[in-house]
Amino acid sequence: MESILVLNADYTPINITDLKRAFNLIYKGKAEIIKHNIISPIITELKNFKRPTIIRLLRYISIPFRKVNLNRQNIFRRDKFKCGYCGEKNKSKLTIDHIIPKSKGGKNTWQNLVTCCKSCNIKKDNNSLEEVEMTLNCVPYRPTYIQFVKNITISYSEDWLPFLV
Ligand SMILES: [Zn+2]
Repeated sequence: MESILVLNADYTPINITDLKRAFNLIYKGKAEIIKHNIISPIITELKNFKRPTIIRLLRYISIPFRKVNLNRQNIFRRDKFKCGYCGEKNKSKLTIDHIIPKSKGGKNTWQNLVTCCKSCNIKKDNNSLEEVEMTLNCVPYRPTYIQFVKNITISYSEDWLPFLV
């Protein structure tokens, strides 16, 4: 699927959409193309169209805080598919660790869940980090929607980068 970055009228990124929806917004006069893919326009029988990579809404819309769903896949994505303890990157070896174990009252929160390889997970077991003398090499955080966009693993256009900082 082609991903198109949607900017609010003030140029802040607010969403990622697909080509069809982006086109709809442009066609209805609700958005303009900010960047397009010069090398591959959309070719139709009637005419060629610019293939947008970034569009901007013409009217500012206020958006409520967008939550990123807390689930396994999104924790992996936040942690860039890397064990928070040893840095293992083999996806087939990754699982999720409760930093404070459930048995010790650890909750399912962004701050308490981290990507962990199976061997570190076994080593840590139901212990706290202090008990097993393990160090966490990252600070688990709750990503905002846009922080998350930066970490997405699907390829996105280089054009997006200036808008994601
Ligand atoms: Zn590990």
